[in-house]
Amino acid sequence: MISTVPRFDRSLVKKYDRSGPRYTSYPTALQFSPAADPAELLDDCRNTPGPLSVYVHLPFCESLCWFCACTTVITLDQGKADAYLDRLEREIDLMDPHLPSDRSLAQLHLGGGSPSFLSAPQIARLGRILGASFTPAPEPEFSAELDPRTLNEEKVDVLRSIGFTRASFGVQDVNPEVQLAIHRVQPDAMNRKVLAWVRGAGFESVNIDLVYGLPKQTTATFANTLDAALDYAPDRIALFSYAHVPWVAPAQKIVERSVLPSAEEKLDLLEMAVERLTGAGYVFIGMDHFAKADDPLAIAAANGTLHRNFQGYSTRGDLNLSAFGMSSISQSARAYRQNQKDLRDYSDAVDNGRLPVARGYRLTPRDELRRTVIMELMCRFRLDLDKAGADHGVDVREEFAAARKNLTPMEEDGLVEWDGNTLAVTPPGRFIIRNIAMAFDTYARPAENRHARTI
Ligand code: SF4
Repeated sequence: MISTVPRFDRSLVKKYDRSGPRYTSYPTALQFSPAADPAELLDDCRNTPGPLSVYVHLPFCESLCWFCACTTVITLDQGKADAYLDRLEREIDLMDPHLPSDRSLAQLHLGGGSPSFLSAPQIARLGRILGASFTPAPEPEFSAELDPRTLNEEKVDVLRSIGFTRASFGVQDVNPEVQLAIHRVQPDAMNRKVLAWVRGAGFESVNIDLVYGLPKQTTATFANTLDAALDYAPDRIALFSYAHVPWVAPAQKIVERSVLPSAEEKLDLLEMAVERLTGAGYVFIGMDHFAKADDPLAIAAANGTLHRNFQGYSTRGDLNLSAFGMSSISQSARAYRQNQKDLRDYSDAVDNGRLPVARGYRLTPRDELRRTVIMELMCRFRLDLDKAGADHGVDVREEFAAARKNLTPMEEDGLVEWDGNTLAVTPPGRFIIRNIAMAFDTYARPAENRHARTI
């Protein structure tokens, strides 16, 4: 029986560090095509039973953080959010005939951008728009990504009155020099203040995001950031590697003016963070995520009931994910669809009474099998190929002969073990899980520099 406690093996992490997808979907968004038939994608949504997980993309931010690769609209004009809410309301109306009959809302997530860019009355209006179309399921999970720099107590209270109980804060790093180098000044005292607000308002769960590999970071500065993060006592911590992809996010070219940590220094930061977080009792969930041992995510990971979707790891699976707003991605049983990424294109479509679907993907039966396989690995670190093959009516020996061959070096390095047709990821293998998953990805072309490096 393989231990379930992850073990960070620096030399192996370094050996297998290469670009790879994060597998919030399979196939990944790189396969989405404008040629996909929107009618077919929408049919799949209607035929996927509820309840629903709704995602709303709120793209506005007051200033651009130079490390950011999200789809954002930088503005100080609050009126833009009013016009955007008009369009969200219209988009939800346009989507109505394509939704399944069960409109109960099991999950709601506000992402961006910065949802806290919205004023308190705008957040209240968003709550009314959503409330008019969806009915909360029993014990719904409402979460929002919040920027401490634009949050205030009134906004926290409005979010809570709508039913939000989960808050996620981007902290990244508390060192003032690092913050200047990434154009995101957010003092430690501000973080503590907003945490007191959300906890005081009755939010049940707090996540904070940290980023390693940022300019000016050293092990000494990042040790202080980890101290602060642990002192904030969040329920969950996401520890992201800074993804330097200036071909996707041109502002990252500004980051290059500062000295970025070397690959070795990044490994130092990661190794230290893993030691500190697990030493403080946080459980490594997989792919950058840590949670307190009594957090539902950690319990789901231990029980083998963890799921993964566009928002990362989740305790709830098989939901029809309906996403609204520019660039948002929806997922139904056998299809993905993505909205227009540009605000003008999104607005034009909605203003003309069209759903703003820009591209999508209809899964083939083979994709469905490989999605099962990859999500099993990402969420459970274990894979019963015979069961997956039986569930999908496929001879796995033939289908995955190449994958087995690709995994041979990792098997020799003790990162995975085969027992017949069952694959187990060993404790050091857990830190390179996406590289292991790539062996089963028909579309992965590692030579191409289209993804960020895994570390
Ligand atoms: S990191 Fe967050 S707040 Fe900063 S620009 Fe990106 S989305 Fe906006």
